[in-house]
Amino acid sequence: MARIIDISPVLSDRIQVWPGEVAFFCDVNTLTTSLHVGAHADAPAHLAPGGTTIDNVPLDVYCGPCQVMAAGVGRRGRVRPDHLFGEIRAPRVLFRTGTFPDPEVFSEDFAGLSPELAEWLSRKGVRLVGIDTPSVDPFEDRELTTHRALGRHGIACLEGLRLDAAVPGLYTLVALPLRIAGADGSPVRAALFPAGPLPD
Ligand SMILES: [Zn+2]
Repeated sequence: MARIIDISPVLSDRIQVWPGEVAFFCDVNTLTTSLHVGAHADAPAHLAPGGTTIDNVPLDVYCGPCQVMAAGVGRRGRVRPDHLFGEIRAPRVLFRTGTFPDPEVFSEDFAGLSPELAEWLSRKGVRLVGIDTPSVDPFEDRELTTHRALGRHGIACLEGLRLDAAVPGLYTLVALPLRIAGADGSPVRAALFPAGPLPD
C-alpha cells in the first residue's frame, strides 16, 4: 500500500474559522460552516465579484505533481524566494511555514506569501500554491495583496493545509474542491501520494 499523507486538518466543532465567519458545525447529517474552513480552495470570486466561482474552476490544477517546500519565514512574515531551501521542481508548490501550529486555536501571527514570490513562481511555471496557514496573506493585510498577485498570474491557491507530517520533497497532490454553485471557495480533502502516477 502506498503511503498517503493526509494534509487536511480534522473538521469538527473545535476547528477555528476566520474571525467573524460562520463556525463549523456538523450535526450528523447537517452542515453549517464558512466555506473557507480547514484545508480549502479559494476561487477567483473570493477576490472579485464576477470572478470564476468554485463550481467552474478547472480541476486539473488540484491534482498532479507537487512539491512541499520548507520556508524559513518568521511569524507575521511573508515567504520570499530567498526564504526557500532548494529549487522549484513541480507546478504545484506547498509551503510549510510552521507558523499556524494548531487549527483549533486561531493565532493571528501566522505567515503568508509575498507578492514577489507569486511573480517569481509564475515565471517558473507554477500553477498552484498551498500554505499551512489560514491565508496566503498575513492576518493584518486586508488588501489581500498576495491573493491578488496570485490571481493576476492565474495561480490557484489552497490554504489551511496541515503540513507537519509532509517532509519536503516531491509528491502527487489530490485536493479537489466541492462543486458548489456560485461559491467563492470550498473545503478540500487534501492528500499527498508518492510522486508519480497514482497507485492502483
Ligand atoms: Zn484565501
